[in-house]
Amino acid sequence: MLDRAGYSVIAEKTFDQFRSAPPSKEDAWRYCVRVTSGTTGGHLIGAILQYQPESVKRFAKLHAPVICLGASATRLAYNLQARHGMPAESRSLVLDGADLNQGLGAILADYAPDSILGFVSFVVRVAEHIDKKTALGVKTLILSGECMTEAMENLLRDTFPNASLRSRYIALEVGRISEVSCGFQPRNHYHPYKGVVVEIDTPDEDGVGEILVTPEARPDVVQYRTGDLGRMKKGACRCGATQIIELLGRSGRDYVKLAGALVRRDECDRVAKEIGLFDDYRVEASQVITGGKLQGKLVLRVFRKDGHYSPMLQAQIEREFSKKLYLTPSRTLAELVHTGEFSPLSVEFSHTPFPLKHKEIKIVRTDI
Ligand SMILES: [Zn+2]
Repeated sequence: MLDRAGYSVIAEKTFDQFRSAPPSKEDAWRYCVRVTSGTTGGHLIGAILQYQPESVKRFAKLHAPVICLGASATRLAYNLQARHGMPAESRSLVLDGADLNQGLGAILADYAPDSILGFVSFVVRVAEHIDKKTALGVKTLILSGECMTEAMENLLRDTFPNASLRSRYIALEVGRISEVSCGFQPRNHYHPYKGVVVEIDTPDEDGVGEILVTPEARPDVVQYRTGDLGRMKKGACRCGATQIIELLGRSGRDYVKLAGALVRRDECDRVAKEIGLFDDYRVEASQVITGGKLQGKLVLRVFRKDGHYSPMLQAQIEREFSKKLYLTPSRTLAELVHTGEFSPLSVEFSHTPFPLKHKEIKIVRTDI
């Protein structure tokens, strides 16, 4: 089995080979060098991705895509693939997070997109800025990067009633894990990409465990730990595929990504210890759509051995935990609540200790 540390050793070797034998100038646009942001702690992981001819082909029917990706290297790589794959006379509009401002609605109306590609929550944010008429012109949504919640799916289907909604399961380090969704499965269900073996590590009583990936094209990468939780579903699909993976989100051992912020286990532990108002806790994280806007939401469930609970204590925990918990390098939960990016923290008391299913997992996504 291959964890992130093991993978970074392989990635180093790949970098060395890449440096000593770089691609030709004509072929360079097929490659992308990516490094993880490091926000989740642990090893930085670099990867050289070589886009296959079919990544270019998927743009063949698009004339005016909007590409919504946060990382500049991926944004550039996608746009290069798009420019090589789209028909002549077509155009592309590439957005990053800073473009989500007051002026975006007018730009989108003028541009008149026929498709939107990118991270699910990013596309949901773009949907907040698009007017009705422009939204009706969107025929294709191609989504990736995270699990989609029911609320997100509903919002996208309501906003873009003429669009087919396709998604893919991709990991930065190993590339494509699934085919583009076939349309017969519910959200977050995927068929493995051809040549990729998907397995579940030590499944629990519900069949849930960490997803392991072995791409046949990469003999050095065997049973790579994706950090995602999932399970295999039995039975064949109407499209003819025989394997179905249900993606259940990040394993949540260390962190959960949410509404542009990062809920980290070590940060929650730090704050819990510092305020000293409870003995154990669990955080339930979700994304909600409030008034057409995407918001992060945290429910903090706490347990006290002495069984002492009161509304005053509840309010104190809510206040102190929000004020001290950092969800970005510089902003606390309280600040994100103030700007409307998060809804206010809910605190609930548990009268029994927390069960040890998926032990050591203290932060869970509850909406996917
Ligand atoms: Zn299918």
